[in-house]
Amino acid sequence: MAYDRNNVFARILRGEIPCRKVYEDEWALAFHDINPLAPVHVLVIPKGEYVSMADFTANAPAEAVAGLFRAVGKVAEILGVVESGYRILANHGANAHQEVPHLHVHLFAGAPLGPMLK
Ligand code: ADP
Repeated sequence: MAYDRNNVFARILRGEIPCRKVYEDEWALAFHDINPLAPVHVLVIPKGEYVSMADFTANAPAEAVAGLFRAVGKVAEILGVVESGYRILANHGANAHQEVPHLHVHLFAGAPLGPMLK
């Protein structure tokens, strides 16, 4: 699938749509989900134009892949959920109901989580 430069997360990255930012570095931006499914629900996205997990892992430079996952770890520290626990999840494609075509990692925390979110 070709990357759509007008998807909502591309627009957030360009500052065209506001977000409640948690963390940002060279590789990633993290912000609160607009429709939280847990007391803490944050999205971590790579700054590069990658549609999905498959696109990212096949085509991103290794430092970008490391950068995204290091950012997820930093976000968990910033949120203070490392001790209490958290869950990360990325939906890929139709069966997983991926809606926004820019890779995003969900981070859920803040309470005991059910067997499945998203
Ligand atoms: P998937 O996680 O399967 O791609 P969704 O489209 O539900 O499916 O995930 C996208 C997530 O992005 C949703 O949890 C949604 O609430 C969130 N979201 C959509 N628009 C915004 C926005 N402007 N700011 C923050 N979060 C958003």
